[in-house]
Amino acid sequence: MSISIPFVLSLLSPTQGPTPKALDLSKALGRITAKGLERSVRDLASLGTRHTFSSTTDPKRGIGAARDYIEGRLRAAARRSGGRMSVERKTYELPVLHKGNKVQVVNLVATIKGQVEPERVFLVSGHYDSRNSDRRDGERDAPGANDDGSGSAAVLEMADALAERPLRCSVRLVLFDGEEHGLWGSKEEAADLKKKGIQVEGMMTLDIVGNTEGPDGRRERSYVRVFSYLNSEKGKARHGLDSPGRGLARLVARAADTHVPGFRVKLIFRGDRYGRGGDHRPFALQGIPAIRMTEPLENFGRQHQDVKLKDGKPYGDLPDFMDFDYLEKVTRTALAALLELAESPSPPRRVVARVQRDLSTVVFLLPPERPDGLAGYELVWRATTEARWEQARFFPAEGKGSPSSTRGFLRVELKDVMLDDNVVGVRSVGGNGARSLAVSAPERDL
Ligand SMILES: [Zn+2]
Repeated sequence: MSISIPFVLSLLSPTQGPTPKALDLSKALGRITAKGLERSVRDLASLGTRHTFSSTTDPKRGIGAARDYIEGRLRAAARRSGGRMSVERKTYELPVLHKGNKVQVVNLVATIKGQVEPERVFLVSGHYDSRNSDRRDGERDAPGANDDGSGSAAVLEMADALAERPLRCSVRLVLFDGEEHGLWGSKEEAADLKKKGIQVEGMMTLDIVGNTEGPDGRRERSYVRVFSYLNSEKGKARHGLDSPGRGLARLVARAADTHVPGFRVKLIFRGDRYGRGGDHRPFALQGIPAIRMTEPLENFGRQHQDVKLKDGKPYGDLPDFMDFDYLEKVTRTALAALLELAESPSPPRRVVARVQRDLSTVVFLLPPERPDGLAGYELVWRATTEARWEQARFFPAEGKGSPSSTRGFLRVELKDVMLDDNVVGVRSVGGNGARSLAVSAPERDL
């Protein structure tokens, strides 16, 4: 439990200013529809298989046809973007042989260039490759409607929704290849971006996000799971539950609460489902805030399975088993989180906190380098055992109620919060209401 005194008292704090209203995303989110998502999933599943070893030349079946379809969709969105969106087909040759030839993976990437801070990049992905019961079978059907036609459709619909919307920061929408074989596409992409010095500030992958019926017939459609690794600073003793990925996971949870009525995020403080992995992993290993979104009740009779009837029970990853109204909510959550990130000013460059003699907390923050569009900051805090930020208090960057400044750092006191028992952070708030990732005051050892 937090020792914070009730929020009513917080409101009386001298640093409290009028908090900017939430970012208005109704138009962008309204463009994400169950109908559009269903069309995209059915188009992808109609190609029979999208296995990485399937045909690259057949225009109607196989991964080559899938690449053409995806590229066509992204290019159609790019044509409406006034030159802000560009599309790339990124081919990587792997040191892996299949039938005597080196395997190629092809990632499809739509980049929307930011209008104010193009060097800040946020990435959202799905994987478009699929598989059936036999991991190496590139011939027989592997419709991959939910794994991961669902995430792929979400990314394609986001491209459509964002085509005509100028953004502050840059966004990369990525459809990965080779996920089913060991995250081939995402490993190559993460390494390539690092090599090119492209700074990804947040990465979200949507993988298996369109089924709501568990193996026993039970339905769960009220939430999506968000997985985040603890890792990422090698060799450091760690306190608490914080990590770059968990900071992003909290932002995604807030995005659902703020922008997607009746829907929520369940935070899972584990990197991925038990013993499994996904395309966020290569990014998390670089220390990039990276999360995975997955439905609550996976149905293994419908994943990585041949399409068949066995004892009267249907198997296989088919569109008819999916819940497109649910997929709409997940996609809106991801898009809302993406837009909060891509429309917000940079978070503070540094945040440190100290315990004072009277047990109150003082927080020092170094403002971002580019303060344009910045209305102020929200101090956020939570008990060390709480998963989410429990309280937020806004103060303006300038003018009445703004904090004092020493040597470039702003100084804010939290009279009612004891640092020993709480985690304290600061996020930037834009005049448009967008909230950045929160920067936590680092844990301090001896
Ligand atoms: Zn998958």
